[in-house]
Amino acid sequence: MSILSDILDHNAEFVARKGYEPFRTDVFPDKKLVVLTCMDTRLVELLPHAMNLRNGDAKVIKNAGAIVSHPFGSVMRSMLVAVYELNATEVAVVGHYGCGMTGLSCDQVLQKAIARGVSPEILETLQHSGIDLQSWMRGFDSPEDGVRQSVEVIRRHPLLPKDVAVHGLMISPETGKLDVLSDGYGVGKKK
Ligand SMILES: [Zn+2]
Repeated sequence: MSILSDILDHNAEFVARKGYEPFRTDVFPDKKLVVLTCMDTRLVELLPHAMNLRNGDAKVIKNAGAIVSHPFGSVMRSMLVAVYELNATEVAVVGHYGCGMTGLSCDQVLQKAIARGVSPEILETLQHSGIDLQSWMRGFDSPEDGVRQSVEVIRRHPLLPKDVAVHGLMISPETGKLDVLSDGYGVGKKK
């Protein structure tokens, strides 16, 4: 049995018994909230429970480290769509303690790529084409720094309306306890 066949078997049964019914909602976030958080597996169910988010409550954007790596990358685009098209009015960046993006080593990742068959010449070609892999494959010194940096990029974004509150939070991947790093209401944006 492969993972995919497991998924498809479950899915056929799920749909047949109308397992979707408790999850019915529409595309607009009921809590008018966008959450940017980490893809960490420990947060898959813990974070929505710990934040009291149910299906339909929030737009959730995930990546490794909850990082906004570029002001005009896909995370920021998603956030702007959530604000303008889906009526979100608040953003919560939720990093977590023990994040694997802390001190991520680009060289270590590239060594693994080479070990898996990516030719070193390809890496050289990329470098000579002006692609800065070191800054692209980058984490942060601490997850708190990561959240603060992401919050800054979002708050300063020229296309984000000033009345959107942007909060920075940390969550414990063990207990789900939230700590507030930066309260978005306190920065003169709203409320
Ligand atoms: Zn993480």
